[in-house]
Amino acid sequence: MPVALICGGGIAGLSSALHLKQKGWTVRLFEKDPELRTAGVGLNIWPNGVRVLEGLGLGERYTAEAAAMKRWWTMDSDGALTSDVDVEGWATDLGAPITGARRVRLNALLASGLGHDEIAYNHVAEGYEQDADSITLHFADGTQATGDVLLGTDGVGSRIRNFMFGGPPEFTDEGIVRWRGVFDCAAAGVPTDVQADVFGPNGHIGWIPIDETHAYWYGSLDGLASYEEFTTCASTWVNTPIPRIIEVSEPGSIIGREIAHYRHHLPRWTDGRAVLVGDSAHPMYPGMAQGANQALIDGMTFARYLEETDDVVEAARRFEEDRLPVANKMVEYSRLHFDYQRTREEYGQGGVNYQIQRYMEFDEYAEPAFQG
Ligand SMILES: Cc1cc2nc3c(=O)[nH]c(=O)nc-3n(C[C@H](O)[C@H](O)[C@H](O)COP(=O)(O)OP(=O)(O)OC[C@H]3O[C@@H](n4cnc5c(N)ncnc54)[C@H](O)[C@@H]3O)c2cc1C
Repeated sequence: MPVALICGGGIAGLSSALHLKQKGWTVRLFEKDPELRTAGVGLNIWPNGVRVLEGLGLGERYTAEAAAMKRWWTMDSDGALTSDVDVEGWATDLGAPITGARRVRLNALLASGLGHDEIAYNHVAEGYEQDADSITLHFADGTQATGDVLLGTDGVGSRIRNFMFGGPPEFTDEGIVRWRGVFDCAAAGVPTDVQADVFGPNGHIGWIPIDETHAYWYGSLDGLASYEEFTTCASTWVNTPIPRIIEVSEPGSIIGREIAHYRHHLPRWTDGRAVLVGDSAHPMYPGMAQGANQALIDGMTFARYLEETDDVVEAARRFEEDRLPVANKMVEYSRLHFDYQRTREEYGQGGVNYQIQRYMEFDEYAEPAFQG
């Protein structure tokens, strides 16, 4: 049986491992930490991501734990409702609902499909060497593992990527901090089946339900880094639910982290038998809430190409040719939403949810009218 070495146990690594396992590969997933990710708050998983989970046989368990949306509001920070889109029909029209989920639960769900012997913790990958027949992954402790293909699913700080290119890529220095927290929808007075985004002159704050009772909020403001500065500004958006949502947040759930963006797209994602998948290939600002969805699609797509041909290098080439332009376009759309004033003006015209409109360009199930 062919052997896949997978370096990184996030959504890209876990889902890729499952796809390959289901297609008869022996998978060996290496994670640098002593356990799977426990930090993080929530995620918007769109129909394109939910369909991948369904393809993995996890659809029912996923939707039982996640929150499915009925509507999506956008508002101005002055309180004006700029759009109200009925998204309930997507479950039928796009074959899957748009959902919100707790990150930790999604990781646990993906990991439940792998055996204990398939995940090795405390393994920090550093680099690799390859020849015509195999690839060997090297770890920081001097040990190594050999297989037929290596998936670098080690995220935005990827060492596999750094090794592939002889050093880290250049990142932008925009200094954008994304604050997040969890809250009880009833306490905040917002429904459990509506997600919403509020656009202000110098930032954007939104919320997404993640189970039957709770939602998570997220937000970034221009040039404001500390939580105090963030909440001071957010508390002035008095005609929106934002001040109340932040006030009732679970204190232990609040995190803020600077988000990373490559200054230029990577020119390629592959080097022979080594392939970058997920954020290591295409980290994106959460403006389209698509990074994890794209990671899920990457894993599914690469596994399909590996099924098409026994030639791993050719499969990697086809994967890159297929996915690189699409994911990079999503990176650009995601960045667009962080141009706050422009985005506010765009939404201020009313009636259109541009995030949805842009997403539809990527969804093969969407009506042709949406395809660019
Ligand atoms: C604030 C914020 C909000 C977001 N919201 C959304 C959203 O709503 N919807 C959405 O689709 N996406 C969202 N994203 C994007 C999404 O989180 C990422 O695209 C996704 O998690 C990428 O998964 P990954 O597996 O590629 O990388 P990661 O999740 O970063 O996983 C990488 C894994 O590799 C491990 N690792 C790292 N280095 C090594 C090493 N040297 N050796 C071994 N293991 C290693 C790490 O410990 C980690 O487990 C958001 C991102 C941010 C920052």
